[in-house]
This record gives sequence, C-alpha cells and structure tokens, in this order.
Amino acid sequence: MLQIHQFPCLSDNYGFLVHDPATSATAAIDTPDAEEIVRQAELKGWRITDVWNTHWHPDHAGGNAAIKAKTGAVVTGPAEVQRIGTPPDRIVDDGDSITLGSAKARVLNVGGHTLGHIAYVFDADHVAFVGDALFALGCGRLFEGTAQQMWASLQKLAALPNDATLYCAHEYTQSNARFALSVDPENQALRSRSIEIDRLRSAGKPTVPMTLRIEKETNPFLRAPELVPGVADWEAFAEIRKRKDNFKG
Ligand code: ZN
Ligand code: FE
Repeated sequence: MLQIHQFPCLSDNYGFLVHDPATSATAAIDTPDAEEIVRQAELKGWRITDVWNTHWHPDHAGGNAAIKAKTGAVVTGPAEVQRIGTPPDRIVDDGDSITLGSAKARVLNVGGHTLGHIAYVFDADHVAFVGDALFALGCGRLFEGTAQQMWASLQKLAALPNDATLYCAHEYTQSNARFALSVDPENQALRSRSIEIDRLRSAGKPTVPMTLRIEKETNPFLRAPELVPGVADWEAFAEIRKRKDNFKG
C-alpha cells in the first residue's frame, strides 16, 4: 500500500511524495519547488529516489536538476521535459509500465495541455497522478494540443475505476466551481460540491485529491456531451473549453 504525502507549493501548486514502505523508494511527482520538496521528504524521513514528471512546464519540471543534485534521484518523464534544459534519465510514454520499488505504475499519454503530458496510474491502489490534464471541476488549458486530442485524453482518465483517487497539480477548484455552476446550474451534485469546496477552502484545506466518480458527476468538461447536445462529444468539449477560456468570473 503506497503512502502519499501532499503539500502546497508555490502559489497554487501541490507537491506529492509517493512512498513504497516495502522498499523505501520515494518519488516526487513533479518538481514545482525543489527546496520545499526536499524539506518535506526530510520531515517524513523519506529519501527521494525518483522524480516522475507529468509534463515539461517549469512549475512541474523546473526543480528536477536541484533535486537530482541534492538526492541523486533518477528522473523519469516524457521526452518533452528536455525543453526545460535537461532530458529525463528515463523517457516514458503511453503504455509503459514502470515501478517505484515494489509498486507498479502505468503511463498514460494525456496530451492536450502539452503534447507529451502523461499521467501515472497505480492500478493496485486505484490512484492516479494527472498533473495539469484534469483538475477538480476543470481541465488544463490547451496550450499545445487540440480539443479532440484533449477529449481523448480525458476519456482515458474517465475509463479508470470510479473510485480512483485523482491527484491533480493545482488548487484551482474554487474558481473552477464558479465556471462549472455557470454552465451547469441545475446540477444538484455540483451545487452541493461547490458548497463543500467553499467550506474546505475557508478552513484552509485542500480540495485535492478527488475521486473520479464525483468528477464524472460534476466536472463540466467530462459532462460536455450532456451540456452541449447535438454535436460530436469532442466538439461539445471544445465549446465548454472555449467558454471557460472566455469566462470572467
Ligand atoms: Zn502545466
Ligand atoms: Fe501547472
């Protein structure tokens, strides 16, 4: 059974340390803030053996070199990570299986936010690290990919078990909820979730991780075909993405 330690980083990122107690292997999922990640690992008494990147953006891979220098960690990630300066030690993409100590993870390409964006799925634990592909009540902006590609990526995540726990990389949930309510105002599950989100945030608590089930019920991007009927699913998604990009809320 994996142990997962989550902590806030930078202004709205989360850092994650994944620890396999059987072997003591520990992975930092992305490297938003090298100093804070190393400090959190020390607090837990864990030695960082691995860095697993989801995509090349600096708030995800920018701390790779510093963590590697400090801990000797092996960096695993998509090829695009070389855009921040140093290529990963091990390049992975869709369909690859990798291990953290005795724990197995599957790599999914969930491109769209960036072309090479990947997610790490620990099937035995029903846990996935989804980076900036899917957020609580949101999804990543389409900086590099197309709406059609992003829709296909989201469908890969939607195919995980409903009780899967999803760890996304940013605390954007409260503003995502405002947009979600604007396009899906009659959704009772969304309305109660939004109240719960406000309660958590006023108590200074994270809204991450989330379960896939609640995302399927309330995330307007996953619900796009229901919210924009009469067009292809990916076109419905494109329409919701466009509305979010223009949303002033
Ligand atoms: Zn990003
Ligand atoms: Fe990010």
